[in-house]
Amino acid sequence: MRLQRWVLTLHTAPARPRSSVPAGVSSFVPACSAADGLSMELLQDFVSRAKRLFVIGGAGVSTESGIPDYRSEGVGLYARTDRRPMQHAEFVRSARSRQRYWARNFVGWPLFSSRRPNSAHRALQRWEERGKVHWLVTQNVDALHSKAGQKGLTELHGCSHRVMCLGCGAISEREALQRRFAALNPEWSAQAGAVAPDGDVFLEDKQVLHFRVPSCEDCGGVLKPEVTFFGDTVSKATVQFVHNRLAESDAVLVVGSSLQVYSGYRFLLAASDRKMPIAILNIGPTRADHLTELRVSGRCGDVLSVIQPL
Ligand SMILES: [Zn+2]
Repeated sequence: MRLQRWVLTLHTAPARPRSSVPAGVSSFVPACSAADGLSMELLQDFVSRAKRLFVIGGAGVSTESGIPDYRSEGVGLYARTDRRPMQHAEFVRSARSRQRYWARNFVGWPLFSSRRPNSAHRALQRWEERGKVHWLVTQNVDALHSKAGQKGLTELHGCSHRVMCLGCGAISEREALQRRFAALNPEWSAQAGAVAPDGDVFLEDKQVLHFRVPSCEDCGGVLKPEVTFFGDTVSKATVQFVHNRLAESDAVLVVGSSLQVYSGYRFLLAASDRKMPIAILNIGPTRADHLTELRVSGRCGDVLSVIQPL
C-alpha cells in the first residue's frame, strides 16, 4: 500500500551558492524552515527504515563538483547552449564527427578529469561503509563516485576515464590516450572553454580540421570513450546485473536525477512492481514522481551530508 506522497521544498534554485539557506531568499525562510524540518525528518526516517538501500543517481550529484548537467531548467546545457550530445550512430559513421569530438574532448580533458567528489559523493561512500547502501547505480560518466571510494558501484552509462576500441574491444585508460593526442598534435593549442557533462568543449570547425586522432595500437580500430552515447543502449548483461542488485535491496533512493532517460527509469518501474519504498531527492520534477512515497527537493550535498545512515 502506498503511503501518502509528500512534495516538499527545501529550496529550488540550483544556481545559488552553497548554504543551507541560500542568500537572497530570506523572504522564503519561514515557510522553508517548516518544510525543511519535516522533509529532512521524513527522509531520515526513510533511510533509517532501509536496511539495504539501492541508490540511483544522476547529474544532480555532480553539479556541485562543477560539472554541468544537460537538463536543469535555466542552468543545464540544453538551456544555456544549442549544442547537443554526441549521437552513437554519428560517431561510428563519421570520421569527421570523431575528429571534432576528440579535439574538443582533448582540450576539455585536463579540467574535466581534475574534478573532485563533493559532499554528496562522500556521504554516499560513508553510507556504504556503514552498511546502509547495498548498491549504487550512477548515470554519470565522470568517475566521481569511484574517486570517492564507492565499492558497490555500477556506472550505467560507462565512464569517460576509459576508452574502448570498436574493433577488438580492448579497454584502455583515457589518460594514456591524452598523451598520444599530445604527441600527435604538438602544434595544437586551444583553450578549454565551458566544459560539458561528457568532457566536451566548444571549438570552431576550422580549429579541429588538422587535429589528428590516433587509432587502436593493437588492431587499428576506432577508439571511442567507454560511454553510452545517446542512441546507443546499455548492454543486457549490465541491465540484468543491476536488476539483480535491486532485487537484493529493500528500498530505493533516487539522488540528483530527473530520470528522463529510460535506461535508469526502468529500475524505478521494476522497484514499483516489487512494491519497494521509493524516495526521491532532486531539484525539480522527475519522471518517477508518481511512483514515490517521498519527494524532497534540495541540493544533494546539503541534504545527504545531514542525513545519518542509522
Ligand atoms: Zn583494437
